Amino acid sequence: MNDFEYTRASDAQSALSQIEPGPGSALAPTAAKWVAGGTNLLDLMKENLVRPVRLIDINGLPLDAVQRLPDGSFHLGALARNADTAYHPLVQEQLPLLSTAILAGASPQIRNMASNGGNLLQRTRCVYFYDAHVPCNKRVPGTGCPARHGLARQHAILGASEHCIAVHPSDMCVALAALDAVVHVRSPRGERDIAFSGFHRLPDDTPEVDTTLAPDELIEFIAVPPSQQYAAHSVYLKLRERQSYAFALVSVAAALDIGEDGRIRSARLALGGVAHKPWRDPLAESFLVGQFPEADRFKEVALMVLQDAVPHGVGIGSNAFKVPMARRAIVRALETAAQGTVTNTGDNIS
Ligand code: SF4
Repeated sequence: MNDFEYTRASDAQSALSQIEPGPGSALAPTAAKWVAGGTNLLDLMKENLVRPVRLIDINGLPLDAVQRLPDGSFHLGALARNADTAYHPLVQEQLPLLSTAILAGASPQIRNMASNGGNLLQRTRCVYFYDAHVPCNKRVPGTGCPARHGLARQHAILGASEHCIAVHPSDMCVALAALDAVVHVRSPRGERDIAFSGFHRLPDDTPEVDTTLAPDELIEFIAVPPSQQYAAHSVYLKLRERQSYAFALVSVAAALDIGEDGRIRSARLALGGVAHKPWRDPLAESFLVGQFPEADRFKEVALMVLQDAVPHGVGIGSNAFKVPMARRAIVRALETAAQGTVTNTGDNIS
């Protein structure tokens, strides 16, 4: 472990004044970091992958509330713990997709510590990224991507680049993407909102950059627009190599708004475990509008979403199995959602 300074901030101004400003500064392994739950950052430090000169503890900031606003939207404080968010009675009642997705992730102990803001900012779990003895473009730009022709079972089949095929590991973010969440941030320049679809990015030729968040922007809360129309027909389906404490091979957040005539009024569909960011396909969602919730329609949607899928890896490391797996997961998630919301923890839905 490298030496580092530890400081605390009790308000946003103090937190912002202690972080290093300037483009790219936060990408340096030694850049100062804000820390909340620390469930990923401390792992990165223990593996010597980041060596911040200073950790700024922001747990004293008043950003831990989970609130339902009068218009039916929610504000999820950046410092609210994942477990407190998932078990909030109004979240469970009105955002069951989000609650279930959170509870499908990590372990109870980690969910008790991990913050909502930190969940968005967690790094990929690519095994090569965590091994400082091998090249990795995300860790050291320009060194190469051994996963492309190596062990890629956990890697992307959509939106990857020749420079990186890593996936974003979050379950919570898949549900937030499906629900059209917005990330509210503050910096010395003021406040701004970032649409969730534009928050995480594809690797392109700069895989070291995970998000569009500026180095000196602090997440204050995540806004979820009114989504009660999906509460009766939503499901988070997570397929993984063991029943708990495992990252998704493929996950699907599916939500349907079904009218009294039995037709779909609107649909939301997001995939996890398949890309560098939660994967949405607006054309596939539009296709479902006006349709009856039937298996044949869902199969057509699954084909649309996966039509550009490209597997990677070789031998037992290949992730070619993910393409049919994702197709079947989409169909199953939509069929399940059409029958009614599944409100258990997600550990049992696989
Ligand atoms: Fe590194 Fe990305 Fe390749 Fe993994 S997939 S080795 S994170 S460049």
